[in-house]
Amino acid sequence: MNTIIELKNIYHNYNEKEVLKGISLSVKKGEIIGLLGPSGAGKTTLVNILTGQLSQTSGIGRVLGDDTKHITKQTKTQIGIMMDSFVLYQRLTVYYNMQLFAEIYKVDKKKIKETLEKVGLYEARKTTVSNLSKGMRNRLNMARAILQDSSLLFLDEPTSGLDPATTDFIHELLLEMKHKGITIFLTTHNMYEASKLCDNIALLNQGEIIEYGNPEEICRKYNQQAQFTIVLQNDETLVLPNAPESGEKIGHLIKNQNIKSIHSSEPTLEDVFLKLTGRKLDK
Ligand code: ADP
Repeated sequence: MNTIIELKNIYHNYNEKEVLKGISLSVKKGEIIGLLGPSGAGKTTLVNILTGQLSQTSGIGRVLGDDTKHITKQTKTQIGIMMDSFVLYQRLTVYYNMQLFAEIYKVDKKKIKETLEKVGLYEARKTTVSNLSKGMRNRLNMARAILQDSSLLFLDEPTSGLDPATTDFIHELLLEMKHKGITIFLTTHNMYEASKLCDNIALLNQGEIIEYGNPEEICRKYNQQAQFTIVLQNDETLVLPNAPESGEKIGHLIKNQNIKSIHSSEPTLEDVFLKLTGRKLDK
């Protein structure tokens, strides 16, 4: 099966309020897809539909070959979910938490050691959860999500609030999983993370996908916004738009050896989002 997620014209209403307005999306095996959008955009609603926790009001959704309205138990075992809100048993050790999850997911206990090693927590297996740092807790949440050999993972802000080393560690782990053919559906506010990891991103705003594609291509598409920042020999800074009329000016400055440095600044995903919605992603 090459297409892991297929959505056609998904709408969702809570009572009278329409929060998803015609979402269509296709995700291939081994792809990392990023769903980006400000609070209230409809990200959680969409993920809940994709994981069988909510039925869409209309439209067709398929996940791992199943209708999203009737995801079988067997398919559910293929889906790993990492949500910040997951409950960890605070007074129990890391290992004991994993043992409980293994029982819930009916996973062989032998997998616990392997999974804890994968997320770098095996040494801390005897530590009580309440004594874990935020980064370690996050790793434990990740361990829980990958315990069942899922072929599709839903991750919500997997590195939010983590130090750079732990963030890099988790990014490496996600890329490793991708290369094994695991499909990852990532919700994030972190543009750097989205640009670094995602094959494609969908920008969701007020229930609609307003832009979709490879992060670099999206930024290139909005490259008309790029600017040249030029520092002159007298340390004066000039900012020129990426437009034909700048060419002549820059040419003239180069001829007269007036330029100390020049660089172009391409728009980031954050700039693109702001341009499209008038809103910052984290607002
Ligand atoms: P996001 O995850 O992007 O922040 P949500 O999917 O949580 O967005 O919410 C989308 C919209 O739907 C918001 O306006 C939110 O208030 C509303 N909403 C979410 N859940 C419910 C619910 N159970 N009942 C009514 N409205 C809801």
